[in-house]
Amino acid sequence: MSKQKIKVGVLGCTGAVGQKLISLLEDHPLFEITAIAASENSAGKIYKDVVNWLEAKDIPASVAGMTIQKCLPGLDCKIVFSGLDSKVAGEIEQNMALHGYVVISNSKNHRMVDEVPLVIPEVNAEHLQLIQKQSGQFKCKEGGMIITNPNCSTVVLCVSLFPIYKCFGLSKVVVTTMQAISGAGYPGVPSLDILGNVIPYISEEEGKIETETLKILGKYDSGAIKFASIKISAMCNRVAVKDGHTMSISFETERKASKEEILKCIEEYNREVKVDFDVLRYFDNPARPQPLLDAAKGKGMTVSVGNLRECSVLDWKMTALGHNTIRGAAGAAIINAEYLLRKGLV
Ligand code: NAP
Repeated sequence: MSKQKIKVGVLGCTGAVGQKLISLLEDHPLFEITAIAASENSAGKIYKDVVNWLEAKDIPASVAGMTIQKCLPGLDCKIVFSGLDSKVAGEIEQNMALHGYVVISNSKNHRMVDEVPLVIPEVNAEHLQLIQKQSGQFKCKEGGMIITNPNCSTVVLCVSLFPIYKCFGLSKVVVTTMQAISGAGYPGVPSLDILGNVIPYISEEEGKIETETLKILGKYDSGAIKFASIKISAMCNRVAVKDGHTMSISFETERKASKEEILKCIEEYNREVKVDFDVLRYFDNPARPQPLLDAAKGKGMTVSVGNLRECSVLDWKMTALGHNTIRGAAGAAIINAEYLLRKGLV
């Protein structure tokens, strides 16, 4: 193993998000997978023998022959990426942080805990200062902490709205989502329920979007987050799309802005935060973005928006799209870890 790379583990390595993490971490310049873990049913088995591999590329050779371990302290790594089922993630992640691991979680369990940063680095990296408060909350051994990334729809909504919020303020947002089947994990929604159909309910999803967004767009102030005061209403639907959550967003700004001003602020934001991919891309074509064509833009990390037009109820409306298991989960967790490392916080 190369000495420069940080040892990382994947909790929930057999799940949809766990597999995406393993796939994206192959040949990563900073991280090297040295441990994988899942439930007691999988523990003790060789990864390639037990996983129902869903990614288009092969299982990375360095992971295929690894033995799956239990999700307990003792894993040979510094950082653990968690793609655990939320039924068990809370307790396991807390225990890992307590024992000195840096836990980067995709699960809902700790997102709204006061001392836990809920972070999209291109939006609210300053919230990472909350880490300092965690030794009290979790009684973590030195270096232990929990960082969370948002719900897969919340990420898309927050990245789409952030430049507009920063430039003009937001008072009201109404969002209707059309969410991909892969957002429900594997095997997820039965095919007979979803084929040729729309399911107008996703458990807890609307509440997550409405509350997480206010934390993310909130301000870090003297050791706490002052939530944004925006009225948000979310309506969530599961649709027969494999990957990519699409959403129709209407919003009212605090300071009135023209279409040109809004598009300019989106463009400037993308230029400012651009890493090696577009963080936020605007399409002039009103029939874009579409999940089939655009979810994989920027290797799945680009949030796409389009068709900004006047709304007769709120001020403006537009379409947004993001890849749910990359931008909305595994990729979001990895850029959080990269950011922590770059800033010397790990
Ligand atoms: P999933 O496919 O159902 O995978 C769940 C993982 O948790 C599996 O590896 C499973 O291991 C493990 N697990 C289950 N019970 C366990 C136990 N008692 N102890 C240890 N490990 C256990 O789910 P997913 O879609 O990958 O989602 C994972 C997490 O990410 C969830 O919290 C979800 O809400 C969140 N998330 C998902 C998405 C998405 O687009 N899918 C997006 C954002 C966030 P076994 O195979 O051994 O049972």
